[in-house]
Amino acid sequence: MTRSYKIAVIPGDGIGNEVMPEGIRALEQAASLFGFTVEQKWHDFAHCDYYLKHGRMMPEDWKDQIGQPDALFFGAVGWPAKVPDHISLWQSLLLFRREYDQYVNLRPVRLMPGVPCPLAGRKPGDIDFWIVRENTEGEYSSVGGTMFPGTDREVVIQETVMTRVGVDRVLRYAFELANSRPHRHLTSATKSNGIAVTMPYWDARVEAMAKHYPDVRWDKYHIDILTAQFVLNPDRFDVVVGSNLFGDILSDLGPACTGTIGIAPSGNINPDRTGPSLFEPVHGSAPDIAGQGIANPVGQIWSAAMMLQHLGEVEAAAAIVTAIERTLAEPALRTRDLKGNADTATCGKAIADAMG
Ligand code: ATP
Ligand code: MG
Repeated sequence: MTRSYKIAVIPGDGIGNEVMPEGIRALEQAASLFGFTVEQKWHDFAHCDYYLKHGRMMPEDWKDQIGQPDALFFGAVGWPAKVPDHISLWQSLLLFRREYDQYVNLRPVRLMPGVPCPLAGRKPGDIDFWIVRENTEGEYSSVGGTMFPGTDREVVIQETVMTRVGVDRVLRYAFELANSRPHRHLTSATKSNGIAVTMPYWDARVEAMAKHYPDVRWDKYHIDILTAQFVLNPDRFDVVVGSNLFGDILSDLGPACTGTIGIAPSGNINPDRTGPSLFEPVHGSAPDIAGQGIANPVGQIWSAAMMLQHLGEVEAAAAIVTAIERTLAEPALRTRDLKGNADTATCGKAIADAMG
């Protein structure tokens, strides 16, 4: 029986609509080369024009409309001139994360050919690691409050929430990932010298989890020195795991160390598969270049590769990443953000062709 995957396709706003077709092109090429089929269902919500028409980002029955796909393939959401970001984001992407319990945010940090590296002396291949961010609790739990607001006695408190289940499940994912890689190394971000309750707890859970993975070497760094190490010695990392806040910081810093925002992909993953995972480029809707057909499609295409990896199509995923590398190595096939002249479709088509 042919392997078949149901994909919910949500292009969203701005350049999301321009890069999505290129993500789909790569997906379809992978399907035909590697013998599986992709059943796409496109959704015309979770974008700002939908909000302007209906007063909300998604229909009330959005969950029924989406049904039970194997994954969600997302473009970009947000158009601040039409809808404030906190509404467009909270009523779409952040809702998916919560509803589908996507407790891992996964991003690769990998130096690609043709992408100018802001760190001196690095060449493609030197930097290649993954960042695993806790995506549902921790410092972003919105627990707290204000006393005596607006007075001299004002008190403002916000709590960090760490649950054993929540910490252990993201650590397990990170150790599993490290265990599957040749270097089998894991780095944990901490700050137990300053945050004296939750971070020592995080450290203790890392130590407990490490006992189940005797083949994984691991270390921990305080977040301040870790950010310095990202810039000074990015070559030494393999898998880096952090709480919601630390992971957030690291997963912007990491891709910045390897060049342009236009190529970075990400996964919001539910490893237990009690709901679908969501794959999207790191970049936003880029209103400044939207509608011109010049956006870099690599972030969307690489996200397709991450989605296939998650679905078990490991060879197809690797073929897409290799095709991206081959294409970026050609100056004429790069988009404008990489100092090339290629438009979105030319670059996307070149990547699909490079797959074979
Ligand atoms: P968000 O609010 O979604 O986190 P943002 O709105 O701050 O992101 P983006 O929409 O990602 O930022 O745009 C930031 C800058 O990067 C813009 O100048 C945009 O044109 C550029 N940019 C983003 N994505 C791409 C891309 N795929 N190709 C080329 N340029 C891009
Ligand atoms: Mg934005």
